[in-house]
Amino acid sequence: MRYFDPHIHMLSRTTDDYENMAAAGVVGVVEPAFWQGQPRTQPGTFIDYFDSLIGWERFRASQFGIRHYCTIGLNPKETNDVALAEAVMKIMPRYCEKDGVVAIGEIGYDDITEAEERFFAEQLQLAKELGLPVLIHTPHRDKKQGTIRSLALVREVGMDEEKVLIDHLNEVTLPLVLDSGCWRGHSIYPHTKLTEERMVALLQQYGLDKMVVNSAADWGRSDPLKVPKTGEAMLKAGFSEAEVEQVLFINPITFYAQSGNISLEEMAPVKVDQTQLWEDNSVLRGQTPIVEE
Ligand SMILES: [Zn+2]
Repeated sequence: MRYFDPHIHMLSRTTDDYENMAAAGVVGVVEPAFWQGQPRTQPGTFIDYFDSLIGWERFRASQFGIRHYCTIGLNPKETNDVALAEAVMKIMPRYCEKDGVVAIGEIGYDDITEAEERFFAEQLQLAKELGLPVLIHTPHRDKKQGTIRSLALVREVGMDEEKVLIDHLNEVTLPLVLDSGCWRGHSIYPHTKLTEERMVALLQQYGLDKMVVNSAADWGRSDPLKVPKTGEAMLKAGFSEAEVEQVLFINPITFYAQSGNISLEEMAPVKVDQTQLWEDNSVLRGQTPIVEE
């Protein structure tokens, strides 16, 4: 099976994760810009972070045969520092035009404050102007209210719902999104959010249309193999291989393909060449480089 993880923060993960993901059939990932576990204090740290997403991390993934794409955005938590958020909004447009940038995100609400709403709306507006899709994070607390207000803001701004992916949905919030044109994202976590079995039940109940599944793995306890593991759970529950590929490969790429910066056609496996360097850096520490013919 071929898999695509449409939401994973690889910058926080190890080379073992890349190796295990490639071995499990993951051929591509989208890495959304997000926060670092503590607030950034200066706009320059966003510039370096965005440069890592489009540069070094993309290279690092390629060294393990994985295609790497990213989204650029100002996360909801950090919008509450208004002066910083205003500065970041000025640097974002130039990053949105770079190779491998497939959406604006992850954006949305965290505590549902006035500042969060302002920069959520401004980033939706920017996506609309640039014709890019958006990835919307729904909050951990007050998720239902956060989802309802996110949908309302998408409509208020006049963003095309076909270009919106609402993420981290569960049994309570998925039905709210089904009435819209938005795509439906689900994060499979070891302890919180959804399990593979609950995800399978949602697919059985609501079908496969616009359904997207990710690991949302980051620097916290999470599992970068949750997409392949969901594929196994789907097969065990009686879904066909074609249906697994639909949800865990075709759907996410089709959504992000609306950016014009990714396509199903380009998903042939990357030929690994570990003799390559990025700014004189290698991922190897004395190992013999793997070079695939
Ligand atoms: Zn995330």
